[in-house]
Amino acid sequence: MSTQPVGNGRHRVVVIGSGFGGLFGTKHLKRADVDVTLISKTTTHLFQPLLYQVATGILSVGEIAPATRLVLRKQKNARVLLGEVTDIDLEKRAVTSVLLGESTETPYDTLIVATGAQQSYFGNDQFATFAPGMKTIDDALELRGRILGSFEQAEVAQTQEERDRLLSFVVVGAGPTGVELAGQIAELSDRTLEGTFHNIDPRDARVILVEGAGAVLGPMGPKLGGKAQRRLESMGVEIQLNALVTDVDAHGVTVQDADGTSRRIESACKVWSAGVQASPLGKMLADQSDGTEVDRAGRVVVEPDLTVKGHPNVFVVGDLMSVPGVPGQAQGAIQGATYAAKQIKSELAGKQTVQDRKPFSYFNKGSMATISRFSAVCQVGKLEFGGFIAWLAWLGLHLYYLVGYRSRITTIFQWFVTFLGRTRGQMAATEQWIFARLALEAVYSDSEEGEEIVRGAAGRRPPAPSPGTPAVTAESVETGAPEKPGGDRKVG
Ligand SMILES: Cc1cc2nc3c(=O)[nH]c(=O)nc-3n(C[C@H](O)[C@H](O)[C@H](O)COP(=O)(O)OP(=O)(O)OC[C@H]3O[C@@H](n4cnc5c(N)ncnc54)[C@H](O)[C@@H]3O)c2cc1C
Repeated sequence: MSTQPVGNGRHRVVVIGSGFGGLFGTKHLKRADVDVTLISKTTTHLFQPLLYQVATGILSVGEIAPATRLVLRKQKNARVLLGEVTDIDLEKRAVTSVLLGESTETPYDTLIVATGAQQSYFGNDQFATFAPGMKTIDDALELRGRILGSFEQAEVAQTQEERDRLLSFVVVGAGPTGVELAGQIAELSDRTLEGTFHNIDPRDARVILVEGAGAVLGPMGPKLGGKAQRRLESMGVEIQLNALVTDVDAHGVTVQDADGTSRRIESACKVWSAGVQASPLGKMLADQSDGTEVDRAGRVVVEPDLTVKGHPNVFVVGDLMSVPGVPGQAQGAIQGATYAAKQIKSELAGKQTVQDRKPFSYFNKGSMATISRFSAVCQVGKLEFGGFIAWLAWLGLHLYYLVGYRSRITTIFQWFVTFLGRTRGQMAATEQWIFARLALEAVYSDSEEGEEIVRGAAGRRPPAPSPGTPAVTAESVETGAPEKPGGDRKVG
């Protein structure tokens, strides 16, 4: 294991995560007399709210995920380390991260943990094989491949039954992500792909939004939820409420209705947007604290100053923190990280002590969800509105929070092309995007040998040729749909 240099004696802040919490926390320490090390398992700052637009061919990855290293280039007191944090030792004050099997230990004086949340399948992780979530760049690209791949397969399908299955898209969960995805898949089939196939009419596609609760956009209340539901229905989206998904397989989903009856929806392309589970680092921190707990979603029930009990130098912010009244949204992460940075700066400048910290207070700036082009719903305080004005507000706000002028300019261009015209600029999809996640899982779960293959492919310690090394083939990877064309070619 290598140890990162201790620095020039300045206060060392380690920030884990390059999402909203990690990046904003780091940026707010720009003028502080500290050395900041930002450690993240991804190379980019991902703007998750626009992931669904990558999945549906509107935006490219670069527009919503600038490289963190480039974003922080001018911040002289900050450096970026790529690696997955696997251990945090609160006693020793050190963080261990791993990059392709190589461990690095980074000591800290103050720690900000902003590792967010991941998709939750409520104990049914096997669903992930057939219904990817929407949390990462890989998820969005895989989904784009699956959506577009389903249309391609439908074009060559031999039977009407198979065509129907391939043209049925199931979105599980009617929160903002589910609503946005369902709306965009409907627009993709009705506007963008219309007239581009010979054997099928993409407008025949069914988009089915399945929700276990009784309302669309439940937390936004009945008025806005009703508006969103009516708009989606006018676009042809089928909304099934009080419908619990109890099983997912390669060919479809099983749904249980409120009266207890079970039924099938045959579908090749399924998307899971139904729940979140906090990063496992939350539990690791709680276990080492003086009695801090995690809630049911694994979020850390932090102290009023966003720290864990007995460790006032360890802040937990963003989706990983549990604070009553603070939603798992970008604003919660930004405000929490800004608060943590402010405490660090004030204490180092001698303006306050740990005991003087005022509790974190959240300013609710509202929430919004877009449904289709020209239509969104918006809630600001007691004000609730929907339609075109809400959509313009949504557009402006998302542009404002996108990082980097270049991203903003190209995003405006892509939106112009998509919303005013019928085409989309990012309709590429490859076989690798669809199958790589499952192939990698197979490689890693297989053996140490599999891990060596990946390390070797990445230019690290190439593995010695081994006649016994199992080949990863399409057959060895049990994928969901769309089925891999030319099924005997190697995936890896
Ligand atoms: C599809 C989608 C749509 C959304 N839409 C909206 C919206 O419209 N409006 C809104 O306000 N909010 C929205 N959100 C929520 C918002 O994106 C989150 O609340 C916000 O990103 C939380 O920020 P965070 O910094 O806590 O976590 P994240 O942004 O998730 O960042 C976590 C970071 O930690 C890193 N990481 C995780 N584990 C490790 C580890 N072990 N080691 C090293 N690094 C690690 C990750 O790589 C990532 O960089 C949406 C979320 C999703 C998924």
